[in-house]
Amino acid sequence: MAKRDYYEVLGVDKSADQDAIKKAYRKLAVKYHPDRNPGDKSAEEKFREATEAYEVLSDAEKRPIYDQYGFAGLDGMGAGGGGGAQYSHAFHDFSDLFGGAGGGFSDIFDSIFGGGFGGGSRSSRSSGPAAGASLRYDLHIQFKDAVYGTTADIHFKHNEPCEACKGSGAAAGASKKTCPTCNGMGQVRQGNGFFTIQQTCPKCGGKGTIIDKPCPSCRGKGIQEKSKQMSLKIPAGVDNGKRIVIRGMGDAGENGGPAGDLVVVLHVEQHPFFERDGADLYCAVPISIAQAALGCEITITALDGKKLAIKIPDGTANGKLLRIKGEGVPMSGSSRKGDLYVKIMVQVPTHLSSKQKDLLKQYMDLENPPKEPNLLNLSKLGD
Ligand SMILES: [Zn+2]
Ligand SMILES: [Zn+2]
Repeated sequence: MAKRDYYEVLGVDKSADQDAIKKAYRKLAVKYHPDRNPGDKSAEEKFREATEAYEVLSDAEKRPIYDQYGFAGLDGMGAGGGGGAQYSHAFHDFSDLFGGAGGGFSDIFDSIFGGGFGGGSRSSRSSGPAAGASLRYDLHIQFKDAVYGTTADIHFKHNEPCEACKGSGAAAGASKKTCPTCNGMGQVRQGNGFFTIQQTCPKCGGKGTIIDKPCPSCRGKGIQEKSKQMSLKIPAGVDNGKRIVIRGMGDAGENGGPAGDLVVVLHVEQHPFFERDGADLYCAVPISIAQAALGCEITITALDGKKLAIKIPDGTANGKLLRIKGEGVPMSGSSRKGDLYVKIMVQVPTHLSSKQKDLLKQYMDLENPPKEPNLLNLSKLGD
């Protein structure tokens, strides 16, 4: 069976934010949960499918890769193609917990939803530490800089703890009080029966506390947006789509939780003359029919500006690829380099002087080509 698109599985569109993705998964997880559908294989499959989609789309690193390359891009990353190791691990965690004593269920949902689904006894977690969001930064770099490495200035905004209140959200002299709506639980109960759904308290936003006089600089949020600038070292040999993760440079965590990461996604611009395939570089150079027939030495300017002398042997055919060892892209984590391939393009002259015409005519007479040449086999022509 073909794998369904992750956005389709969760029923959200491509621009959905993390809240919408979380909400959509929560709905499906509750509906298709194996505990609620004992022995129902199709429900189990739907639950598995939704969990896999959620694991990728809620991951700041995996989601952009999936967006750009689809399932293929996730191969070997522990999700998507072929049921990666990380996914099956998560699935086993689920099954183990569902099979166990009561409480496991809210435990696992607490850990996924940051307390939004837990039982009352666990809601103290909602005011516990929460990791900050990871941020994506798209960086466009020159072809040459991707090959040889560079340093790039990046400018971005992220949330930091508010300086005025040190992240507490309270104005000077004010203090936090237990939220009267949820009695400090951070959750309010909705519905009844077997599945009582707890929702984040609308009054305190799940913190369990309210501030009578909020800090004026952050309006009680405890965080503030800050513009940042840093210079980022881009190593030699990086390619399009490469991600550089700067730990802790994402949004600040809440209540002492760790900050998220800044994920820099590289976009390499095209070069007018050079192309790249992994560690190998490719370019094309024109030569005349006389140079091709007699052989010659030419000089080209390599990507790094260096002059390279290239010997063209006599009898070189149009389209021939000449390999120049070690003039390609540095391989990351090694001192080795790829190769440079120069494609020889033999140019047939179009504007000939009368002297050139005479010489070529003499040449043709000497060569005496047959009026009816034998046909060639197309598949043996090569490039
Ligand atoms: Zn503040
Ligand atoms: Zn509350």
